[in-house]
Amino acid sequence: MSLIIQKFGGTSVANTQKILAAARKAIRAAKEGHKVIMVLSAMGKTTDDLIALAKQITNRPSTREMDMLMATGEQVTISLMAIALESLGYKAISFTGTQIGILTDAAHTKARIRSISTETMRRSLNEGNIVIAAGFQGVSEGGDVTTLGRGGSDTTAVALAAALGADACEIYTDVDGVYSTDPRLVPEARQLDRISYDEMLEMASLGAGVMHSRSIEFAKKYNVPVVVRNSASDAAGTWIVDTPESPTEPVCGAALAKDEARVTLVGAPDRPGVAMALFTEIADAKIATDMIVQNISSEGRTDISFTVVEDDLPQTVDVVKKVAEKIGALNVETDLGVAKVSVIGLGMEKQPGVARRMFRSLADRGINISMITTSEIKISALVDQSNSLNALQAAHEAFALHIKPDDARGPVILKPGEIKSPDKLEGEYLSRLTGMEDTIIESITLDATQSRITLNGVPDVPGLAANVFERIAKDAVVVDMIVQSVGRSGLANISFTVPRDQLQTALVTSTELSQTLKSAPPTCNPKVAKIVVRGTGLRSHTGLASRIFRTLSGEGINVTIINTGERSINVTVGDEQGAKACELLKREFAKDTL
Ligand code: ADP
Ligand code: ASP
Ligand code: MG
Repeated sequence: MSLIIQKFGGTSVANTQKILAAARKAIRAAKEGHKVIMVLSAMGKTTDDLIALAKQITNRPSTREMDMLMATGEQVTISLMAIALESLGYKAISFTGTQIGILTDAAHTKARIRSISTETMRRSLNEGNIVIAAGFQGVSEGGDVTTLGRGGSDTTAVALAAALGADACEIYTDVDGVYSTDPRLVPEARQLDRISYDEMLEMASLGAGVMHSRSIEFAKKYNVPVVVRNSASDAAGTWIVDTPESPTEPVCGAALAKDEARVTLVGAPDRPGVAMALFTEIADAKIATDMIVQNISSEGRTDISFTVVEDDLPQTVDVVKKVAEKIGALNVETDLGVAKVSVIGLGMEKQPGVARRMFRSLADRGINISMITTSEIKISALVDQSNSLNALQAAHEAFALHIKPDDARGPVILKPGEIKSPDKLEGEYLSRLTGMEDTIIESITLDATQSRITLNGVPDVPGLAANVFERIAKDAVVVDMIVQSVGRSGLANISFTVPRDQLQTALVTSTELSQTLKSAPPTCNPKVAKIVVRGTGLRSHTGLASRIFRTLSGEGINVTIINTGERSINVTVGDEQGAKACELLKREFAKDTL
């Protein structure tokens, strides 16, 4: 007999009518012969309301008590659902996270799942119940109630599917599926028939709120087929599976993270260990950073900029100030009111010119980019919040994301019951994990084919990045990593890597560019080594980048460029240190490597 997990989000259980409608979906699946576990969110905006209550008392409530408070929301829904199912003549039983045995670490409000005991659920299913589990919550080893972070019910659902080897995990929400971008922001957005795990993970992590990014880590690691559907219709929805919709399109979606803040550690001494000190402290505070840019140093000092979500800013500034003092940096600066626009797609890995297209689309609308980072399957640009919607629309349009690609793979044929996900749980490497959400590294490789060029102190105007990369592309130079950061002075530094055999061409062009732009001559490192650490959920595991820094700086190796993504973290180091750096990282991550 097949097992289906059905998760209903807040709006899908916002009132008793909707709870009854959701109950009927579960009943239908049960009548079709499936065992059913429902995972529920709090009703409507309950979680927001609970948070607001606490904030009426204090701005910094303790996280333990916030978890106690927030977890009540889900408890209301699950009991009402059980009552609804019973009233419709079905056997049902509800459980809190603690009752099921969703064991997490003790990081309140951001807890990660360690293990899930399946016994209670299996027994209840075997007794003929529809099982109803509270989403978003767990229990720590010490017995405290924990929550998984906002939107975390998706993660509960996929984690239960993984733990029980469910045939499918259905996510019922208030839109028809996963769209090329948030359909509430860009009405032209197109619903995809399918999207790959890697793309969805990156989209979610870069702001597509339709799925909690950690749920996709589970889905990928444990091979759970996920389908996102509208709770108010019978539409087919979007399948999140191994393969992308189109095998050739460079971009499948665009995402917006609206409320970002930029933090810059100004004038840090440029020596190994500085970035390590910074990101270790931030990771220890469980703050997720993105768009990390370390400007190539001048006069022995360097600026390190990164972004965090606005809500994390006060805590981040506390941490960074402490570090600044310790290492003797000059200052800590923050920019509020910035937003991150990203385009994502597996196909961009094999196609040049994607970044350029994105930059041009923003430039054409007069939108200035204050920071750029790329990784293999995403390009992110930081813009002013007032431009965020315009920028998202521009990026969406530039890649014609409203049009279905000619070679789009049709709707997934997977139907619950017809497929059985290979039970990776029994796989050798998963059994080595101490916690279900631990990171898995797939490989660590050395790429010794790249050179780095940096354009220094370039006057920052809209269209700068577009002009630079269009000019570079004219010579058919293939640009790999790109980082750009604009300082308070209004001057930008742009670093990028190119294949070594194209360095001369790119350098001549860069020199020309710097003359036209009236900036300092470009600098370059003809031989950089790029080390690619690949895995799943790398960015959202906050400690990982800092472990990389710590390992390398411990041996006196300086990281010049770092790109973070969910699927890979890439760093460049001096050529002569490449092999050693790669070995060191392999050793450091041996236990976590597949
Ligand atoms: P739920 O309460 O069901 O978990 P969420 O509000 O968390 O629902 O997620 C659904 C919302 O996600 C949609 O209403 C939509 O506005 C937003 N969203 C953002 N990006 C996307 C996207 N790429 N595709 C679909 N929805 C998206
Ligand atoms: N109720 C929680 C929230 O609003 C969890 C969820 O809905 O996924 O964040
Ligand atoms: Mg959600």
